[in-house]
Amino acid sequence: MQYTTLGKTGIQISRIGFGGIPIQRIDAAGTRQLFLQMREAGINYVDTARGYTVSESYIGAAIEGMREHFVLATKSMSRTKEAMAKDIDISLANLGTDYIDLYQVHNPTMEQLEQVIAAGGALEALLEARTAGKIGHIGLTAHSLEVFAKALTLDWVETIMFPYNIVETQGTELIHKCAERGIGFIAMKPLAGGALDDATLALRFIASNPDVTVVIPGMADAKEIEQNIAAACDGAPLTEAENAKIEEIRATLGTQFCRRCNYCAPCTAGINIPGVFLMDGYLTRYGLADWAKARYAAMEKTASDCVGCGVCETRCPYNLPIRDMLKAAAERFGK
Ligand code: SF4
Ligand code: SF4
Repeated sequence: MQYTTLGKTGIQISRIGFGGIPIQRIDAAGTRQLFLQMREAGINYVDTARGYTVSESYIGAAIEGMREHFVLATKSMSRTKEAMAKDIDISLANLGTDYIDLYQVHNPTMEQLEQVIAAGGALEALLEARTAGKIGHIGLTAHSLEVFAKALTLDWVETIMFPYNIVETQGTELIHKCAERGIGFIAMKPLAGGALDDATLALRFIASNPDVTVVIPGMADAKEIEQNIAAACDGAPLTEAENAKIEEIRATLGTQFCRRCNYCAPCTAGINIPGVFLMDGYLTRYGLADWAKARYAAMEKTASDCVGCGVCETRCPYNLPIRDMLKAAAERFGK
């Protein structure tokens, strides 16, 4: 395992961390098993969020008796002082600890970031919690370049998390600025929300950028832990063949693809928007047409149920033309 310093926080962390979103799909016992394996493998950085339903509490149960082996990072969508203070206490209780190493402002818009910083905003609660010893450091997560750039100018921001992967390199320059300014950079969405199927190549690409402090893929079993460590800590430069594959992936996926973040929900017509795009990806990219068609046919609402209200597009952080994309999917699937 390679270890590195998480920017100006000074915390020593493994170059590969644990992304806490997928454990919503496994159970508490499975999570415990996973954490025992991670401890054995030397992975110590753990990322979760108040918004990931049971993730914090599963992790809390999983680290019982071995809290000191992990660096815990969580985040909250609260924007006011009162709500953030409450969330910090809930996170502490869920995680079964009296100290969280890193607490992050979760994906604010520019307007929400203003609110966080203003009098009565969430930052006041974070600073008070840090003084009280409930949290160690403060970070921010973003999906927009504008928010990322603004975060670089805020002296209380010690870490920044932003999507970074083979097909989402728009943050490269700002990531370099993080390194120059001693701000820890946490790469999220290493597999572009499931759009990339070669996890080894995806992680090798990210790890080959020295400006990235830590990458946080989801992991569900010992085999994935081993594979991810091998990929992220290999240290060998990308080969010509790998670079060619990366270019091929970029040419195939382009930029208009769904990252399955589900921020567009709820759909007025009850469509599972990322679900439709996932099946569309299986149909068009992965050669699983029959399987995708059968799964799509079983969906309660399909792309053709879209009433064109456009609400989802105002919520998509990637500005995807969801209505047009649904129309194209409906044509391909025939409904
Ligand atoms: S535009 Fe279509 S997909 Fe988007 S919220 Fe409205 S009905 Fe749902
Ligand atoms: S359409 Fe946009 S908001 Fe919805 S899941 Fe995909 S990327 Fe996320």
